[in-house]
Amino acid sequence: MQVVGEINAIREIVSAKRQQGCRIGCVPTMGALHPGHISLVEECSKHVDFVLVTIFVNPTQFGEGEDLGKYPRPLEDDLAACQEAGVDCVYTPEIAALYPESYDTWVEVGDMSTILEGDCRPGHFRGVTTIVAKLFNIIQPDVACFGAKDYQQQSILRKMVRDINMPIEMIICPTIRESDGLAMSSRNRYLSTEHRQTALCLSKALEMGEQRLKSGETDISTIEQEMLKHLNSYSDVRPEYAVIRDPDSLNELENPQPEMVALIATYVGQTRLIDNRRITLKNP
Ligand code: AMP
Repeated sequence: MQVVGEINAIREIVSAKRQQGCRIGCVPTMGALHPGHISLVEECSKHVDFVLVTIFVNPTQFGEGEDLGKYPRPLEDDLAACQEAGVDCVYTPEIAALYPESYDTWVEVGDMSTILEGDCRPGHFRGVTTIVAKLFNIIQPDVACFGAKDYQQQSILRKMVRDINMPIEMIICPTIRESDGLAMSSRNRYLSTEHRQTALCLSKALEMGEQRLKSGETDISTIEQEMLKHLNSYSDVRPEYAVIRDPDSLNELENPQPEMVALIATYVGQTRLIDNRRITLKNP
């Protein structure tokens, strides 16, 4: 497994592989890898001959007062996990190489970036779409894999790729969970033992939303209120949103429809967690 930090070096490696006829797959991450990330690597390997993982804690997607400084960076462990997963190459760029002092070019998807996560974390998606566009330009992958765990992020990135005609196949992989239902996240390691237990409130509230829809409740805002009430019933839980939306546009819904997505963002203690659940109704 090659580990590369320089833009020119990664370009040379990829172009040599391409000349050999390899299809290139890319899995962008911020490191602190867990089995959710590894599942993306495994899926990616099914579609390409050369899997490249990027590890970069992207400063432009963190807002003021967020956890950029304390975000975990266990590089040695990450490289070992990549090696074990059969990754061909890891790209670990330096901040100064991707954002030199004069840097001032941004890739931004419109309205979809301003709601939900975009509303709670202004500028977040501008940072995400900019870094992913830059990584795509450097690597020029045929395929890229992202997790459904970050539901709005994958919607926005797929839209970016479509809207500006990037020739990249986007593969979205299911959320990997702990055995008790907590969605795996690099941020879970911030949780105290007690808050780790409390964090089950996200998956429970999502399940509750689905149950209420399946049992025939047709008032979406009533169900959203119930999900919020469930979250608020725990001490140290401070929800930012709990909603049921259209799974493609993420727009609000007047009534239940065959395909929906429930999305939650909440603080558990000082840790901000997100989760979501696709909901299918046979007879809405
Ligand atoms: P991150 O390192 O948090 O930026 O995540 C890198 C990629 O891994 C993104 O596409 C995430 O959606 C994906 N990912 C994170 N957690 C999970 C999970 N529990 N299951 C599946 N994919 C995940």
